[in-house]
Amino acid sequence: MTSPTFPATAIFDWYDRHGRSLPWRHRWPDLAPAYHVWLSEIMLQQTVVATVIPYFLDFTRRWPEICDLAAAGQDDVMAAWAGLGYYARARNLHRAAGIVCAEHQGSFPDDVAGLRRLPGIGPYTAGAIAAIAFGRRSTVVDGNIERVLARYFVITTPLPAAKAEIGGRYDEILPPERPSDFPQALMDFANAVCTPRNPGCEACPLAGGCAARRAGTPEAWPVKAPKKTRPERRGIAFVATDSQGRAFMVSRPERGMLGGMLAFPSAGWTPDDGAYDPENPFANAPFEADWRMAGDSVSHIFTHFSLSMDVAVARYDGAGPPETWQKVRPASLPTLMRKVWMVARRQS
Ligand code: SF4
Repeated sequence: MTSPTFPATAIFDWYDRHGRSLPWRHRWPDLAPAYHVWLSEIMLQQTVVATVIPYFLDFTRRWPEICDLAAAGQDDVMAAWAGLGYYARARNLHRAAGIVCAEHQGSFPDDVAGLRRLPGIGPYTAGAIAAIAFGRRSTVVDGNIERVLARYFVITTPLPAAKAEIGGRYDEILPPERPSDFPQALMDFANAVCTPRNPGCEACPLAGGCAARRAGTPEAWPVKAPKKTRPERRGIAFVATDSQGRAFMVSRPERGMLGGMLAFPSAGWTPDDGAYDPENPFANAPFEADWRMAGDSVSHIFTHFSLSMDVAVARYDGAGPPETWQKVRPASLPTLMRKVWMVARRQS
């Protein structure tokens, strides 16, 4: 397949002048430690850079090397991850750290095939680590790079079906030099210039060859399959506090939503949590108490559904084993439960 010439040099020139300084980033010919690249890439899945930076700095301060992370307790890792969402990522992170330490003497595999055998590492993340930490010419296509290439080459197949075609285009344009810088340069460029809305075509170093610009409607790419509407769910969380100011809390099951995280008991919002009938709201309360509804409910958006969660509160002493009563540390809670706690606290 022939392809229009892609001016990689222009992207490198742009990156040298405007690329971001990020705590995990090194510039060619320096290569970033694989531990840092992996950690940042896992954190960046579904999360923006500004949110990730303080988490990355906190993780690398607590656990400077991957074997420090492997030796940490899972509860500590989950608590440090709280607020980043998608908690299966944190569990896989901890498992992968254990494997790298126990089976690879603390060094990550240095190619895509080896990296993909670690939990939580899919094709994109493996390609990114191989390129950025090991200087390999691997395929690295995230949503930002997809946008640039779909526009430059006017790829008319809708996403996600277009992913293979875009990956093929990436492999064609991948230059022999600076393999660790190339994907990072494209990502920064997509963020700053070829933005989803109002791309800066006037000053764009790719403008000369960009087919979407020639067509006059760059925002029309990438073409996306119509979105399914997000279903709505309703649930309830139960916040009991005792006379010492502690709350009744549980660890959520390892598998499923907010898996392994500390949470208030709840019902109705996942298949495993029991039903919720607003006409009979306390039917699934964790124990009998003087439950009453808090005035406000909590809204929260998950990828596949939006949730309206009512909040029931009670003052109670003595239910359950002692370890279920804990001082609430909001920073250690997933965001949904942090919101629940804020509503409950307004009632006390
Ligand atoms: S010319 Fe416009 S659409 Fe094309 S790559 Fe540049 S910013 Fe993106």
